[in-house]
Amino acid sequence: MYNCHSHTFNARYVPKKFLAIEMDERAAVIVGRLMKTPVLNKATVAIISRLGPNYRKYAGFLSVGIKKTQDMVFEEMQKAYPKGTRIVALPLNFQFMGAGELDVNYEQQLDDLLQVRAKNPNECLPFVFIDPRMGTAQQNRAFVEKYLNRGFVGIKLYPSLGYYPYDPRLEEVYRFAEEKEVPIMVHCSKGGIFYNGEELEYEHLHPQTFNSKFPPRISGDNKTPRDKFKDNFLQPYNYEAVLDKFPRLKICFAHYGGDSELELQIKNKPNWYAELKDLMKRYENVYVDISYTLHEAKYREKFLNDLSDPVLRNRIMYGTDFFMTLREDNVTERDLYTDTLKHFGNDNFQQIAVTNVEKYLKSPYY
Ligand SMILES: [Zn+2]
Repeated sequence: MYNCHSHTFNARYVPKKFLAIEMDERAAVIVGRLMKTPVLNKATVAIISRLGPNYRKYAGFLSVGIKKTQDMVFEEMQKAYPKGTRIVALPLNFQFMGAGELDVNYEQQLDDLLQVRAKNPNECLPFVFIDPRMGTAQQNRAFVEKYLNRGFVGIKLYPSLGYYPYDPRLEEVYRFAEEKEVPIMVHCSKGGIFYNGEELEYEHLHPQTFNSKFPPRISGDNKTPRDKFKDNFLQPYNYEAVLDKFPRLKICFAHYGGDSELELQIKNKPNWYAELKDLMKRYENVYVDISYTLHEAKYREKFLNDLSDPVLRNRIMYGTDFFMTLREDNVTERDLYTDTLKHFGNDNFQQIAVTNVEKYLKSPYY
């Protein structure tokens, strides 16, 4: 079986102000310092727990985040699954999110992840993260190709860090991915991290696009709180510009839009969950994963119902978003796995955790 969505990066790779997005700044500085000390141990987590109930909630999350190496994080996750389970690991480049400098550069994070693959050649399936701001269209394509040739099996995007998916500096990446059937994973929920810089850049408010048939629609301005403005980056319909040009692109929208969108769906209001269903019906290689969102039984129930639709049945994938889920009280990886298996039953689980993921991953690189 597969888990198509997980993270193995740890505190070494995140910028100084990363935690400030979830905690208040003063506490984030303390936690950040603790997490970067050479002695990373349970005592650190105990200190954090004592900061108050808000921090106690993060203790499980932090206990994984402070693991010394990515392979320790990976092994922690493996314990929840039958031997031989294959797990997609998604790195991130935190360099452009407006949260300060990195101590360890992104290439180092990728090299470390490659070591995890070397130790677990059949089980670890790393994706390479690309941000359009890393280079020109040609350079970004070359970057992705280089890492795919070195053992990565897919491409990861995270637009809420401050860019639009129709950015011209991504066009060659898409062209290459479509040609070679390389899977792309994109973050698609209102949760998670986001561009948190003091100022919005010109390109955030006036983006360029490689497909002028779909003019950018931006709402808000420099005064809009960053965690609201980021919704502009994430809109599922941003990908109409992409899929219109690359209709066979294999792309998975992570989290199926997320909790907030399922709530809107329940209230019959417009939402990303419905938009993603629409994209799956219109484009043959659009997928979703149920990671993170699956932690609530009522949302799992909705996903299970979707499996009776013949189109959606082939596009929904099992993933968990380990270890982000550890921020939720009392949710372990093992629970997510066994609860989902029980809820879906063997046939349906086989469909989302094996059949669909295999089809999604299949390319010359895997
Ligand atoms: Zn994730």
